[in-house]
Amino acid sequence: MRFSGLLVAHILFWRKFANSVKSGCVSRELRTAGLISRRDTAGGFAFATATAGQAIPGYTKTGIRKSKTGRWRAAALITLNLFMIAHIIQWRVMGKTVSPIEPSETMHTLQKGFVNAGFIFFTLAILATLIFGRFVCGWGCHILALQDLCGWLLKKIGLHPKPFRSRLLVYVPLIGALYMFVWPTAYRMFHNPENAPLIPEFTNHLVTTNFWQTFPSVAVAIPFLFICGFVTVYFLGQKGFCTYACPYGGFFGLADKFSPGKIRVTPACNQCGHCTATCTSNVMVHAEVKQYGMVVDPGCMKCMDCVSVCPNDALYFGFGKPTILVPKSNAIRKSYSLTWPEEIVGALVFPGSFLAVRGVYALVPFLMALGCATVTTFLTLKLWRLLRAKELSFYRFNLKSSGKIRKAGWAFAALACAWIGLNAHCGWVRYQEFLGNLAFQKIKLPDELALAQANPARWLSPADRENILRGKEHYQAASNVGLFVNSEALPKLAWFEYLLGDAKQSVQTLGDAAAHQSGESKALSLYYRGAILNRLGRYEEAQASLGEALGERDDLILARQEKGESLWQLGRREEAISVWTDAVERNARLVLVNNELAGAKRLSGKLEEAAAHEKQADQFTPNDPFYHWILARRLQDLGMAELADKHFQQAGDLDTDKGGPQLR
Ligand code: SF4
Ligand code: SF4
Repeated sequence: MRFSGLLVAHILFWRKFANSVKSGCVSRELRTAGLISRRDTAGGFAFATATAGQAIPGYTKTGIRKSKTGRWRAAALITLNLFMIAHIIQWRVMGKTVSPIEPSETMHTLQKGFVNAGFIFFTLAILATLIFGRFVCGWGCHILALQDLCGWLLKKIGLHPKPFRSRLLVYVPLIGALYMFVWPTAYRMFHNPENAPLIPEFTNHLVTTNFWQTFPSVAVAIPFLFICGFVTVYFLGQKGFCTYACPYGGFFGLADKFSPGKIRVTPACNQCGHCTATCTSNVMVHAEVKQYGMVVDPGCMKCMDCVSVCPNDALYFGFGKPTILVPKSNAIRKSYSLTWPEEIVGALVFPGSFLAVRGVYALVPFLMALGCATVTTFLTLKLWRLLRAKELSFYRFNLKSSGKIRKAGWAFAALACAWIGLNAHCGWVRYQEFLGNLAFQKIKLPDELALAQANPARWLSPADRENILRGKEHYQAASNVGLFVNSEALPKLAWFEYLLGDAKQSVQTLGDAAAHQSGESKALSLYYRGAILNRLGRYEEAQASLGEALGERDDLILARQEKGESLWQLGRREEAISVWTDAVERNARLVLVNNELAGAKRLSGKLEEAAAHEKQADQFTPNDPFYHWILARRLQDLGMAELADKHFQQAGDLDTDKGGPQLR
């Protein structure tokens, strides 16, 4: 069926539906009040003709009773949002709080063993859904609240979101859920080079000081909410995001099939269809209750609107057989928005769009990418119809009539082309970023070895250089055409530059990266910048950069060690010793810092203290020639010649034992 046919199908559906309804489908209140004319009720289509569109208190213009649960649900969702705001304020005021009560946090539990509030919430929500059905979605989801708000606002301006019905895209939420929550464990089963346990050891992460760590920045959150709220509702219907994108809904929908708690029907039902007309989850309530005695569609979010609007009070929430135990029937014929070829095109466009936008510029999170992909799929298919169909409309806009594209049609085409073009552009940038990331992952040279001296060229094979060169080109290609700065790609580009011998440019790029970063990633960029500046002999700048890194993350111990080196080279030796001492107090096993302290104490004549640090360092020094060589290089730069010679000697001895190249 074509989009233009959707309206026709809709009308046909209601006509057929009207033929099947019985008289008496008007609420008792209306009948008692005499607000329905005899002709109307006899026609059996009372909800469409009640009092000629006159507003009756407690009824819609179409004569359907207004839902009384709608207000309760709105109150519950507003309260939920207020609690979320209170949670953030409490964290800002007190500095620590309960970890985010957000299902996505479960990924950290499955991957790292972090038991957090999100995991507990999601587990309880799934268990509750297994018993009561999908209440959590309808009454406790902030994205649903946003969609309801958007739907309400659109209706206020006369736009009634139409449901988009696809046979294949409804599987997206479940696939998304499996990808988020099952794939990481499955992947570890088959690819686990470090032999990490399949189920990680659980640790308590119920309280956090870094509440926002796993959330996008405000600059990303605003378009995220706009796309997942307004845009999906506008194009795909009131529950567009829930139906075609939400991965949590994928699991809730599955759990709902097992739940005994369902919307059920009594013999009082006369098939008037008010329930179906009211349901914003696109459930064929009247047909399902007729066929199965209950609502079986896993999209039912137990909002209870249908129960509230039924003029015969025929619906109720009750327990009984779950969906899974009810034989499936083909009696209910659903109408779909797409033909099968369109479904297949949609099934190809969706993953393409998702891959193009997910993680592009290190900005677009998973859920937002799913939301974008649903919209891209819709716009692509609609645009295709605009080119092929003779008649096409969208909401009240006439896009094409008698084979001629109207003004609204051109505007729609321009909007669709802009969106799809932006998507394709994201795809190109993402492709370049992906290849850059791949090249970065192929680098096997340890950072410590690369940073032991200003030019690490001696450690790179021709193949390594080729890989690094290509990786650098890919990042630069992405950056040349990119619309935003990728703050995660910049430090990697800087590392490529450093490995290729351009330490000065690397310092510049790391500075740019830090300017676009915050928190831990900013601290790391500043640390690497400081370390490279130390190798270049620009100690004043290095010291400042490392100080900034520590300002971001006080626990970044490597920055402390490098800062000690800058201070030492600047002749501020007491300060250097103080910084190194601070570092070993935080971690007594630091080999290089203990060696540096040993060297410093030795130079100031404190031989006993020097011996103690040296002993402590030797205790934890790996028996590796490269490690000794790194120590030797760093100590030599600091003028601690005796200790440097000792490690050069050990590196040489171990290296000769292994028959490797001379480490000098
Ligand atoms: S259950 Fe639905 S179809 Fe049946 S009487 Fe109530 S509103 Fe009408
Ligand atoms: S079927 Fe009824 S309870 Fe379920 S979502 Fe639709 S209106 Fe709400």
